[in-house]
Order: sequence, then structure tokens, then C-alpha cells
Amino acid sequence: MFNTLFKSVYFIEFLLITVVRKYFTGKLQGKELVRDKRSGMEIFLLVLNGIGMAVPLVYVFTSKLDFADYNLPDWVGWAGAVIFLDATWLLYLSHRDLGRHWTAIAGILKNHKLVTTGIYSQIRHPMYAAHFLWAIGQIMILHNWIAGYSFIITMLPFYFYRARKEEQMLNEEFGKEYRIYKEKTGALFPRL
Ligand code: SAH
Repeated sequence: MFNTLFKSVYFIEFLLITVVRKYFTGKLQGKELVRDKRSGMEIFLLVLNGIGMAVPLVYVFTSKLDFADYNLPDWVGWAGAVIFLDATWLLYLSHRDLGRHWTAIAGILKNHKLVTTGIYSQIRHPMYAAHFLWAIGQIMILHNWIAGYSFIITMLPFYFYRARKEEQMLNEEFGKEYRIYKEKTGALFPRL
């Protein structure tokens, strides 16, 4: 079914990260949002991001995108596989630490508390950092101009729009507590 070894490697890692995500998010659907900040733009960017995430599946299961292949040494693919595993680990830590406060659409839940512990004591957006690591791993594993780059291209506008909006929302909700938290943490990388 697969043209190359790396299509299989990517698919196995894709399944693994999807299982981690579903394990945590499956039980969190249908929560009560007290402040729903969704906008048409956010939903558009979220859907676009989902498409960017799914394009590699077309590459894995068909040969339609093979015309855009290029060559890189195998070690780049293996290094990408390690980065993708790191992304999965970071996503696991983020979900474990954010717990019930996770939502697909930016919003404030009933009894929402500001989480400042675990991985959130270092960075404010570990889930988005995990998605960036995933997108970098994808580029390195899939040596194809379309399937390799589809996720990073859709992740960038989503991140810049969503992280800004989320921070404004948490700032309105938690005020000084959030501003102090923000001073101590980095967005995607820990503060030195
Ligand atoms: N941007 C974060 C969380 C993504 S989930 C990350 O990358 O890990 C999105 C939801 O998480 C938002 O609706 C927001 O209300 C909530 N959220 C983000 N940071 C939070 C925090 N430190 N404490 C509590 N909730 C938070």
C-alpha cells in the first residue's frame, strides 16, 4: 500500500498522536462554555488547519501527490520521526496538565481556573508548540513539497490569530493573575 518506508513511519506516528489526542478530548466534548469567543475567522482557520493536517493521508494512501516528491537523505526522515515523537510527548503533557480546561474553540468554561502548573509553568501554549513540532517532523519525514509543508502553512496563521485572541480572553478573565503568569512564561519556548 505504501510507496516508501517513510510514508508508513509517518502514518504510524500520526495514529499515535491521534490516539493521545482522542484519549484526552473524547471525554471533554459538550462542556458548558460561559464565554464563547468563537468567530467565523477562527473556525475558518481551524478547518484550514485540519485540512493541512489531513493532506499527508492523501499522500500516504494514494500516489496522487508523488509528482511533488524530492530527495533528502534518510537520516533527515529519522530525525523527523524523533521530533514527531517529541511532539506527541508534549501534547500528552499539555493535555494532562490543562485537564478539563481544554476546548477546541477559544472560550471560558464554567468554574474556569488559570492553570499555571506542570508544563504550563514554563510555556503558555504547549499544545500549539506540540503542533509546530509535529509540523516540523512532517516536513522532515515526508519529502514532498505538498504533503510535507501542508501543516506548517496552515498552522502559522491559525497560531498567530488564535494565541493572540486566547491571551486577550484570559487577560480579560483573570486580569492581574494572568499578567503575572505571562511575565514568567514564554509563549512557545521557556523564558531564559
Ligand atoms: N493555548 C494553550 C491551550 C489550548 S486549548 C496551549 O497551547 O496549550 C484552548 C483553551 O485553553 C482556551 O479556550 C483557553 O480558555 C484555555 N487555556 C489556555 N491557557 C490556559 C491556562 N493557562 N489556564 C486555563 N485555561 C487555559
